[in-house]
Amino acid sequence: MSDLIVEVSGLHKSFGRLEVLKGIDLEVRRGEVVCIIGPSGSGKSTLLRCVNLLEEPNSGTVVVNGFELTDPDCDLDRARRTVGMVFQGFNLFGHLSVLDNLTIAQRKVLGRDKAEAERVAMENLTKVGLAEKAGSMPAQLSGGQQQRVAIARALSMDPAVMLFDEPTSALDPELVGDVLRVMRQLADEGMTMLVVTHEMQFAREVADTVLFMDGGVVVEQGPPQQVIGDPREERTQKFLARVL
Ligand code: ADP
Ligand code: MG
Repeated sequence: MSDLIVEVSGLHKSFGRLEVLKGIDLEVRRGEVVCIIGPSGSGKSTLLRCVNLLEEPNSGTVVVNGFELTDPDCDLDRARRTVGMVFQGFNLFGHLSVLDNLTIAQRKVLGRDKAEAERVAMENLTKVGLAEKAGSMPAQLSGGQQQRVAIARALSMDPAVMLFDEPTSALDPELVGDVLRVMRQLADEGMTMLVVTHEMQFAREVADTVLFMDGGVVVEQGPPQQVIGDPREERTQKFLARVL
């Protein structure tokens, strides 16, 4: 099996006449953490959505865990299962308990029986420090707890890669740390991760590779100590001067 879990080449995506992605190349290897930084509107979410099949590219190829998503014969349902995604907003099912949020897709999509799905769910709730909340409803949890449940839910599907789209940017500042701690722990355990984030400290400490995107292109990429610590491109320097 290839060590290349995500491979994007020459990706273009337009909405009507607005060209949002203008030829993106990106690779994420097994166990690697790649962080994407860049100003609002630069196409970061659209890129993640193309990797997760929520948007269809206009041209270019996207390969995830051996599935070429851009091949018309690709089994998209099987491919989608190998990608876990956590968004900015909390997207738990409000009418289901935390435990049911974690078991429903395991049962419907993976065909696990109730006992097995619950075992996996409890394992992942324990991992994110929320085993005691299994019986709670999402509305009874803080935003940070809901986001950790969303991470546990994605993990319960045994994804080959986890995508995060600014998972902490809707949180009150005091709740951000708990979510970043869980993400850091996942990275330490060897999870393959593609993370859009404004948390420069996290990117600096956890990422293997940082990509700076602006205007639909990757302006600069490399290890964090280079891209964040000593950026070569003026656009990267200007962005970092605003956010650091
Ligand atoms: P980022 O995540 O970096 O802030 P996005 O990928 O969300 O950027 O958006 C990039 C550009 O694409 C923005 O100009 C946004 O308005 C536009 N855009 C995103 N999604 C859509 C859509 N579904 N329809 C039309 N325009 C969109
Ligand atoms: Mg975005």
